[in-house]
Amino acid sequence: MLDLIIEGGEVVDGSGNHRFRADVGIMGDKIVSVGNLKQEPARKKKSAQGLIVAPGFIDVHTHDDQLLLAPQLGPHPKISQGVTTVITGNCGISLAPLVSSSPPAPLNLLGQHNWRFDTFSEYLAALDVARPALNAACLVGHSTLRVKHMSDLNRPATPKEVGLIANDLASALNAGAFGLSTGLYYPTASAATAEEVIAIADPMRHNRGILTMHIRDEGNTITSALKEALFIGEQLNVPIVLSHHKLVGKANHGRSTETLALIDAAAKKQQVCLDCYPYNASSTMLVPSRVAQSDRVLVTWSDADPTAAGRSIEDLAIERGQSQEEVAQSLQPGGAIYFAMSDADVDNIVSHPLAMIGSDGLAHDVQPHPRLWGTFPRVLGHYVRNRRLLALETAVHKMTGLSASRFGLKNRGRVAPGFFADLVVFNENEISDVATYEAPTQPSLGIQTVYINGKLVAENGITLELHAGSVLRNDVYRTP
Ligand SMILES: [Zn+2]
Repeated sequence: MLDLIIEGGEVVDGSGNHRFRADVGIMGDKIVSVGNLKQEPARKKKSAQGLIVAPGFIDVHTHDDQLLLAPQLGPHPKISQGVTTVITGNCGISLAPLVSSSPPAPLNLLGQHNWRFDTFSEYLAALDVARPALNAACLVGHSTLRVKHMSDLNRPATPKEVGLIANDLASALNAGAFGLSTGLYYPTASAATAEEVIAIADPMRHNRGILTMHIRDEGNTITSALKEALFIGEQLNVPIVLSHHKLVGKANHGRSTETLALIDAAAKKQQVCLDCYPYNASSTMLVPSRVAQSDRVLVTWSDADPTAAGRSIEDLAIERGQSQEEVAQSLQPGGAIYFAMSDADVDNIVSHPLAMIGSDGLAHDVQPHPRLWGTFPRVLGHYVRNRRLLALETAVHKMTGLSASRFGLKNRGRVAPGFFADLVVFNENEISDVATYEAPTQPSLGIQTVYINGKLVAENGITLELHAGSVLRNDVYRTP
């Protein structure tokens, strides 16, 4: 007897193939049958008539390291979008391994007070104990390792420091980390050379982990930054992910044709893909020099003036009789949203065959970028239904099957027998993001049910279960 049959839906199975009508049978935490199950007995049957049944979405770009340890009550920013698995520790920033009472920016994007794990295995064990809301595959951050092992961040790592960092990376991989993330853009890592990254990532050499990279520049010098990232991946012979691919600043608008051609050419000889979010504004730490590159800048948090969260730098500058850069300086440390991309570039990147969807949401921001709550429904509502930029099957593939295969998430990302029962059931005519820049913490519409490991975790917008996730561990690295 099956535990559950989801009946009569249109299955979009995550492979990118065309939808088909089928029932989905679940036993325990797995999908056991897909087809006509009318005669099959089941403890529960749930109709999905007129709805899409898809694999739960995989958010490949998150900073949920701390959120997973302590979920808030009420709607969950990710489950409410149909997300069932997250990749944490991106952009060089992971919560472990580091013990610190005042981590430097951008590590503070994960909060100031949560830095208590000396080893990566302690962090994964704490996640196991917390029983996370979603499945989590975790990356180790290059900046986190630099902060832990280096006395001075404004130079490349010395051979001794390289040894310490590489050792720590090897232990993390051995504990189950899926790979390394870098953020050479950020002050904690901008002094690192490509050679440093290649040296410290040695334990991952030859496909023993994935390398995600927030490249050195996404503005005027993006071409050399991309080439550097491709070079690092090629030298290490590891799969790479170019994080939140975008072109920043008016002078660079339209250059996605050039960057995507460069990536396409590289993909013929090395494993490379990218992630992106469906918005024309980015968000990260507040960087005064970045204000001039942007049409508009909104403050997401500020320790110096908490009341600035949600306000525009331009308005604050007029109010205070200061320049916008002076205002940005006075709000440190803080975070911001930058309107500095063109919609045409976002369209090109979202629809590119190597692009996966990742929110890059920042759960600790007072007034976060709406991507934290809206990314996946926005792709399916705005880009698929309203704009017809891509087929529903293609969009779902970019959030499920493609992501699972690139990150090596075994038996996830497909609706097929033997796969884990991570599922989202939604109405393709209604699914929409609701979160806006003004009111960013709002759940999306059009999702009927979300299942994680066979458990019903949300129904009609109500979160029912916050502990159905598993901590995923990379078993490529560990040798028996
Ligand atoms: Zn980043």
